[in-house]
Amino acid sequence: METVIKTKKGIFVKTDKEFGAVVFSPYSGLFFAISKEYVNDALNYCNEKKYNLPNDIIKHLTIGINFEKNFEIKSHWLPEKNAFSYINENVFPNSPIVINWLISNNCCFNCNYCYAGDVIDKPTELADPTKIAQKILDTNPLAVVFSGGEPLREKQKIIDGLNVLGNKVGIMIDTNGYHYDHDLAKLFQKHNAVIRISLDSLHNELNSKIRPLKNNKSNADVLNTIITNITKYRDMKIPVLIHTVVSSVNKNSLYDLYDKLPSLGVNGWRLFSVIKPNDENKQEKFKKLMIFGKAKNIDDAQQEIQKEIKILNNKYISKSNFSLQIVHSSENHKNSVVLVLPSGKFVTESRVKNEKIEISDKSIFDKNKVDLIGHYERYLGQIKL
Ligand code: SF4
Repeated sequence: METVIKTKKGIFVKTDKEFGAVVFSPYSGLFFAISKEYVNDALNYCNEKKYNLPNDIIKHLTIGINFEKNFEIKSHWLPEKNAFSYINENVFPNSPIVINWLISNNCCFNCNYCYAGDVIDKPTELADPTKIAQKILDTNPLAVVFSGGEPLREKQKIIDGLNVLGNKVGIMIDTNGYHYDHDLAKLFQKHNAVIRISLDSLHNELNSKIRPLKNNKSNADVLNTIITNITKYRDMKIPVLIHTVVSSVNKNSLYDLYDKLPSLGVNGWRLFSVIKPNDENKQEKFKKLMIFGKAKNIDDAQQEIQKEIKILNNKYISKSNFSLQIVHSSENHKNSVVLVLPSGKFVTESRVKNEKIEISDKSIFDKNKVDLIGHYERYLGQIKL
């Protein structure tokens, strides 16, 4: 696979002869695949040269640049899934679409399902962020997520990381939304970063039941603070996506989020079904989060959650002014994410045990540690092979 190009329009493109291209738009925070026959023209279009492309490709690439309220996003495989009939498991490129860099190992929240509970507040080797960023860049990702813990608590590391990665790959910041730093926000604006904020309900009490602060006393202000921070980013024209983890406690609040999030000016919404945390200390709280309402055990609860997500997905469409994406995140696909720990170690979640396993930064998808097709489908949606 070729290295990533930041095109004249600011859209990031990575091409591959056998596969086609993968694209990250910093205007919408969305990923797309472009089928082989349209790659050259898509590159020409993004570089403001002469092109000949189906309208559907142009419309998807310009989400967030052009405003077309009723344009429906049917697929992230462009111009449509059928154009990828040549796809088989051997043509998926061996370089990652996204690397999630857990830049911080601390957080002021204590979410009941925290996926990073085995990293947070645990001692870690101090590593040079500039060197880690270079190692990440060497793996040729299309985009890098600064995550944690709460990344905004690591101002200097973000600055160092952006010095290496900015303009070379797409940048996303996964934050709890409770922190805001105006200097960093200006830097995000300069590097066309997309902000992704975790929010599980628009009712403060419910959100704080799932995602309480470590200091419980301040829970009453959480939702207001997050909404104020969303407004600050949007005022700076920085795209914001909301991440919601669906558990038994909030599965009935999804319609409320779908109805109200667009009025906050957010660009889109990504939904994940909850997965069991690795951290032993979280197991009891996780059980409480799942065995709620009609569910008698965790398996029942998971089935109910999947049912609710399916109903929502059938009922609501994804539009260009508010994209909706259900992320493939069940227990069977845990190893579809590439993570880099604060120490600089590359890991993925083990599919069989509740733990992270080390992977080589030289061959991320080797020995089936990271599920290659699962990784592509996580960002692009499912394609039936
Ligand atoms: S905000 Fe994120 S990192 Fe912090 S506790 Fe919650 S899930 Fe974990």
